[in-house]
Amino acid sequence: MTTMYDIVIIGGGPGGYVAAIRAAQLGMKVVCVEGRGTLGGTCLNVGCIPSKALLTSSEKYADAVKHMAAHGIKIDGVSVDLDAMMARKDKTVGDLTKGIEFLFKKNGVDYIQGWGRIIEAGRVRVTTTDGEQELNCKNIIIATGSEPSSLPGIEIDEERIVSSTGALALKDVPAKMVVIGAGVIGLELGQVWARLGAEVKVVEYLDRILPGMDSEIAKTAQRALGKSGLKFTLGRKVLGIDKGDTSLTVRMERLAKQTEEELEADIVLVAAGRRPFIDGLGLDDLSVQRDARGFIAVDDHFQTSQPGIFAIGDCIPGPMLAHKAEEDGVACVEMIAHQNAHVDYAKIPAVVYTAPEIAGVGKTEDDLIEAGIAYDKGTFAFRANSRARATGEVDGMVKVLADPHCGKIFGAHIVGPHAGDLIAELVLAMTVNATVRDVIRTCHAHPALGEAIKEACLDVLDRAVHA
Ligand code: FAD
Repeated sequence: MTTMYDIVIIGGGPGGYVAAIRAAQLGMKVVCVEGRGTLGGTCLNVGCIPSKALLTSSEKYADAVKHMAAHGIKIDGVSVDLDAMMARKDKTVGDLTKGIEFLFKKNGVDYIQGWGRIIEAGRVRVTTTDGEQELNCKNIIIATGSEPSSLPGIEIDEERIVSSTGALALKDVPAKMVVIGAGVIGLELGQVWARLGAEVKVVEYLDRILPGMDSEIAKTAQRALGKSGLKFTLGRKVLGIDKGDTSLTVRMERLAKQTEEELEADIVLVAAGRRPFIDGLGLDDLSVQRDARGFIAVDDHFQTSQPGIFAIGDCIPGPMLAHKAEEDGVACVEMIAHQNAHVDYAKIPAVVYTAPEIAGVGKTEDDLIEAGIAYDKGTFAFRANSRARATGEVDGMVKVLADPHCGKIFGAHIVGPHAGDLIAELVLAMTVNATVRDVIRTCHAHPALGEAIKEACLDVLDRAVHA
């Protein structure tokens, strides 16, 4: 007798695997179909985790070469063993992807390795290495994620012109690397290779880095990243890449002057965005609606235009982030189980794991100005924080934007050490509608980086103590 599943989830990334575990916790019979051979999706296999593994390894190397001497530690003969660094990254990825298989077994989630295609609501055909298999279910969740996109006329070969996937597995440190796109992925991977010895130039169409993040924070970050070795070429439109025998020539237009310029590189990383990965799902035959950019359109219950077919994560509109995909997955499954669930997209933190780290949540100052919303602003520089002084990581600041009447926090933005961890306090504050006064009333340990958050909140009220 064939199994009747409550939910078939197509895609085993952070959206799909977390949804599967939550569904099992709620007592549903659930199966996750994943085609790539390992669980964890883009995030674990070719995204968040390998990039953070290489960021950490390359930071340790940069510390040994550049920063240890200031602490009175002399190290001679430091060199990079790239094979060992990559092997460590691969092991970290392997351990974590196997960890999800363990979690599936523990929670009673069925897992099928294969590519899923939706035949109709309630029926999914899976192509495995052993042939085809059909699954019957009450609900289908599409969690197929995203893939790197390129620019017109530029073909990614993953050898010399690489996407993030290729940039996570280069065999040698390039002498010259051009990164197209000054977004999160371009900056993180650019910094990895710059630390390991490449001359890295980041080309960006806009006249600023990190589009979408607070522009004052982005400017501060650009200065700090510049000091650490990244070179920025902003306001340039990439026209194409010429492939020579030994090198690549990136042709660009300098937008302000309408002149043409060129950059030479051994490796070009195209980090110009990602698009939904929905090939082979059969969506056209089913008339599942998509938006103008190709993302699957859903209502506020994650339901597509076809009843019984839901979609979550990177393949629907919204921030393309692992934790957003997880939130979608949990909320979608809870709604299928007729529970109250909600994702507050206004409070999804975004983090860039460069050094210094960059993090933000809620409204940027640019958003508030554009919307004509009155706000009070508090800032605090890490240079005045005693823990940052002790560790020597003094670049950056905390910035808090709040309602001038009641102190409700509209947004918070950090560039500096451990910004990605520090932002959690302000995400929680915003989630529970805490005001800057509530954060100030909270006792912060000393000496700690978190004191900079309290001081920025004090500064909103013109009461900063250490500035
Ligand atoms: P995915 O993780 O893309 O998973 C979808 C899965 O579905 C894939 O494994 C795919 O093989 C599978 N699939 C697709 N079609 C089918 C099919 N027909 N049948 C079966 N399986 C199928 N986000 C962060 O929050 N923090 C970070 O630090 C971060 N760093 C990143 C660094 C890089 C280099 C990249 C590329 C991304 C990074 N991201 C980060 C983004 C993050 O990886 C994604 O937002 C997240 O993985 C999206 O999760 P998802 O479940 O929607 O999709």
